[in-house]
Amino acid sequence: MPELPEVETVKRGLKPLILNKKIVQVRVAEPKCFLGEVTEVEGAKVVGLRRRGKALLIDLDNGRTVMVHLRMTGQLIWRKGDLLDGRVSPEIDRVGTEVLRAEQFAAGHPSKNFTAALPNKQTRVTLVFGDGAVFFNDQRKFGFMKVLSTEAVEREKFIAELGKEPWEMTTEELYAGCQRHGRAPIKAVLLDQKVIAGLGNIYADETLFYAKVHPETRAGDLTRAEVEQILAGARATMQAAIDSGGSTMATYVRPDGTTGDYLEKFAQVFRREGKACPRCGTEIVKLRVAGRGTHICTKCQVRVEGERDLAAGRGGWRGVKGVEGGEKMGAEGAERA
Ligand SMILES: [Zn+2]
Repeated sequence: MPELPEVETVKRGLKPLILNKKIVQVRVAEPKCFLGEVTEVEGAKVVGLRRRGKALLIDLDNGRTVMVHLRMTGQLIWRKGDLLDGRVSPEIDRVGTEVLRAEQFAAGHPSKNFTAALPNKQTRVTLVFGDGAVFFNDQRKFGFMKVLSTEAVEREKFIAELGKEPWEMTTEELYAGCQRHGRAPIKAVLLDQKVIAGLGNIYADETLFYAKVHPETRAGDLTRAEVEQILAGARATMQAAIDSGGSTMATYVRPDGTTGDYLEKFAQVFRREGKACPRCGTEIVKLRVAGRGTHICTKCQVRVEGERDLAAGRGGWRGVKGVEGGEKMGAEGAERA
């Protein structure tokens, strides 16, 4: 679930905690989550933290870079303490929210690990520093750390193929990307990291709601004006998530110690099926598009039926028949999505 805003949040949160500090030890509990040799990392100092799409890049002073992919359930948690001395990080139950907040930074997939003692059985890799440690936890083990030569990072397949981020991209570039994948539903195109970098399921839904575009609209049928709205929506929704702190300890654990969901801070449609559209009050439904659970307002996001009438000019015409279909698919999608 971590998407671009969450990875950006991880980067911003970890930077002041580990920049210019030496990684004294790397503990690998799950070999498939650490690609490379620990000797390439141990003893090296962190000289930079960057992000490319959903990848976090930790640059070291020895010409290496640790690329971190959180994938579905990855999280990075910094805890203060001396792990080499065997000091175990405290659990929230024992120390209280305020102490733990002062001693840690936690972000990525929100889970009980944000407040649990670490390392635990979901800890795959631990980067030990002199005054604390970064725990890479991943329930499902799809995430990984990979050691690369810093100068080769841009040639890494995943990064070399990345499209531009919404903030770097022009409407014309996104429009061209939509035309190249003309028959695909716009939601699938937005999820394609080669077309536009950083949007996952959450922000694709939020973006299309913002732009009032139905996710099944064929990308090639979109007008430039609609593409412009989609780009504006991608920027606005992801910026709002970054500003709200993404999925961090601060948004996961409420001041009273109970746990919440950071989505409630900015999500307009995502996981809000059955609730009222914040714009028009219509009930939000869940459908399945591009194989993913998809949330829409059927009144705000009307589906375009088939090809647009070229004679009517690109820009004006749009069908109004999508509403019933959307509701039908919503019932179907609600079973399992
Ligand atoms: Zn609506």
